[in-house]
Amino acid sequence: MRLEELRDFGLTEDQRMIRATARDFAEKEILPKIDDYEREERYPLEIVQKLGPLGFLGCLIPEQYGGAGLDYISYGIVCEEMARADWLTASVISVQNSLVGSTILRFGSEDQKRRFLVPMARGEKLASACLTEPNAGSDLASLETTATRKGDGYVLNGSKIFISHANHADIYFVLATLDRSLRHKGVCAFVVERETPGISSRPFPLHVLKRGNTAEVTFEDVYVPRENLLAGEGEGFKIVGSALDTGRYSVASRAVGQAQGCVDFALKYAGERVQFGQEIGRFQMVQQMLADMVTSVEASRLLVRRVGYLKDAGVERASFEASMAKLFATDTCMKVATDAVQIFGGYGLAAEFPVGRYMQEAKILQIGEGTNQLQRILVAEYALGLRKY
Ligand SMILES: Cc1cc2nc3c(=O)[nH]c(=O)nc-3n(C[C@H](O)[C@H](O)[C@H](O)COP(=O)(O)OP(=O)(O)OC[C@H]3O[C@@H](n4cnc5c(N)ncnc54)[C@H](O)[C@@H]3O)c2cc1C
Repeated sequence: MRLEELRDFGLTEDQRMIRATARDFAEKEILPKIDDYEREERYPLEIVQKLGPLGFLGCLIPEQYGGAGLDYISYGIVCEEMARADWLTASVISVQNSLVGSTILRFGSEDQKRRFLVPMARGEKLASACLTEPNAGSDLASLETTATRKGDGYVLNGSKIFISHANHADIYFVLATLDRSLRHKGVCAFVVERETPGISSRPFPLHVLKRGNTAEVTFEDVYVPRENLLAGEGEGFKIVGSALDTGRYSVASRAVGQAQGCVDFALKYAGERVQFGQEIGRFQMVQQMLADMVTSVEASRLLVRRVGYLKDAGVERASFEASMAKLFATDTCMKVATDAVQIFGGYGLAAEFPVGRYMQEAKILQIGEGTNQLQRILVAEYALGLRKY
């Protein structure tokens, strides 16, 4: 085995091929176009539509439901390679596979798998996860969206905020409560078709990612048949815990990719930019930043790979390891992106170079799918034995 392969902890031939395919797609189909989408504040639907035929929208969905049936390490690699080029494309893959696809796969009935996973895997339907509410962010158990039993189903009322891709998605994974006083025990998880009467969504603007990504979604007397309830009544919190377990793995993988992108840009720039008669990469203080950047990205990748390895070994929950990977990789990504901007000097903030955008997008990874304060709480509680699977 060559040194390069050993460094990869012996990725299989298939895994290396998936990485090459993902990297090739990102470099040819995403990177050259992303500045245009950004300038035009346009959702990259044309790119997203190409992800289906490549199998990237059904990475974790088994072949029997039309998916690619990839292992978790391969899936993490796809997320990493996409994020190296674009936050948003990687986010589509991550939400579709981790938060929604793997959840329906694990908790859905056979009928739900046929109805939802098959079109999702083919890329015919995009999914969104409607969890966060105006008054329930980190404290999801305090959510206010209600599910009221009616006939052979439920009526949903409430609103969700910051929902990625909701304006373009067809399938919503929704948390709602039967009884707020029960806190997490009252929470149910539903799969809801966006076309259902009573659902409306509107863009929720951010300083960054002005490509129509996040939305506010309102549910007004939305009737959902019982066959769209995942598992049973009151199971929603357990379901979302499992979804976030896989979600944190993909967020951590994306953080490694974004950080690697910053390293690549910074190394190239440091080798080209000349000040005081020499390339800035020859100055020790710039080298120090580069050395820390390269090392911390490698360390993050190892933590992330371990989560993939555990999941491929069939471990049902790897929450401790997933939280550590998410925490470390996203903090690393923020630091690496900030240092990349520093290495670019004023050009780091110029629109002609991407590192300034990467820096803003890195911040989101420290907040989404459980802020890093929450990850620290989880890691400490697992380490202290106060929390168990
Ligand atoms: C770009 C983007 C995309 C997103 N996409 C989605 C999506 O697709 N679906 C979805 O459902 N949500 C999504 N979110 C929402 C995201 O998951 C929430 O923003 C996040 O969970 C935090 O909730 P909050 O913003 O209400 O912050 P809050 O919970 O109000 O937290 C505010 C601050 O208080 C801290 N804090 C809160 N509780 C504690 C505690 N117990 N101990 C210590 N510190 C604490 C937090 O760490 C944070 O620093 C997205 C957010 C962004 C920015």
